[in-house]
Amino acid sequence: MAIIGTDISYVKQLLQAGQVVGIPTETVYGLAGNAFDEDAVLKIFTVKNRPQFDPLIVHTDTLSKLTSFIADFPEKAQKLAKAFWPGPLTLLLPKSDEISDLVTSGLSTVAVRIPNHSLTLELLSTLDFPLAAPSANPFGYISPTSAQHVEKQLGKKIPYILDGGESQVGIESTIVGFEGDEAVVYRLGGTSVEALEKIIGTVKLVAHSSSNPKAPGMLKSHYSPRKPLFITDFEQLSKNYSKEKIGYLSFQIAIENVSLENQRILSLTGSYSEAAKHLFSYMRQLDSLPIDVIYAELLPEKDLGRAINDRIRRAAVRE
Ligand code: AMP
Ligand code: MG
Repeated sequence: MAIIGTDISYVKQLLQAGQVVGIPTETVYGLAGNAFDEDAVLKIFTVKNRPQFDPLIVHTDTLSKLTSFIADFPEKAQKLAKAFWPGPLTLLLPKSDEISDLVTSGLSTVAVRIPNHSLTLELLSTLDFPLAAPSANPFGYISPTSAQHVEKQLGKKIPYILDGGESQVGIESTIVGFEGDEAVVYRLGGTSVEALEKIIGTVKLVAHSSSNPKAPGMLKSHYSPRKPLFITDFEQLSKNYSKEKIGYLSFQIAIENVSLENQRILSLTGSYSEAAKHLFSYMRQLDSLPIDVIYAELLPEKDLGRAINDRIRRAAVRE
């Protein structure tokens, strides 16, 4: 069993000794290890059961620390960093030799981010190395948004989880890379496309391409509950299953044909950010109910609705 607590100096000792620990961020909880220590990085892949072709995000707390392990910082990237860090935005930047190929799965760019969580920023400020940290869930399952979620799934494999409460954004960071002068969004996430475009103008979207080799983690099926989740043809589903056996995930409004205790409404006020914050924990709640299937409603395709829909589509059964 992992200890759940807020002892930053103990976490620092564990990390210096090459251990991996759970850390809170505003997006989701991370499974963190010293990014400069190959053994610690290997441990991250093992604990998560994550394939090594899926690269990790490196977290730091200041731009000056960041510039020590990247080889270039394009102007558009700097503008985005200035506008959104600390925050739910990951930038793909050319890496320096200090970052091992293990972290980047052999790619020449490293994914970097300054997270917006006071405990983790405090921890990072005491460390003289950055933290490699993917989401702290077994590969393919729903990402964790609380220390308890991490404990449930990885608690037996790690010594400590730093408890920073519920993740306030609730979905992963938006990932942006650069091709020449063009900014490319590889994963939709906690920073909306609209917000990015306000700072640097039009961006290219390749986030929906599941065969995109630049982002191996963009697998078509991901973030999945164990119960089959459907996004099409609710009418058919309600003919095939009794109303006690269907779970229902909706944006704003409840539905009649499903028992109320089996329904989770992402935001009664229709707020996209509130919906994002609830998404993964509500998926987990539905997954643990005595039901047979989950139906999820898609949100309007704008603002964080796009990133939420991306997660729901990937959680869904392929039909
Ligand atoms: P996670 O931390 O679990 O949200 O996963 C991080 C994701 O970032 C990976 O699945 C990759 O898709 C993406 N990523 C990390 N590093 C790179 C990179 N150098 N190039 C492209 N995508 C990356
Ligand atoms: Mg992940």
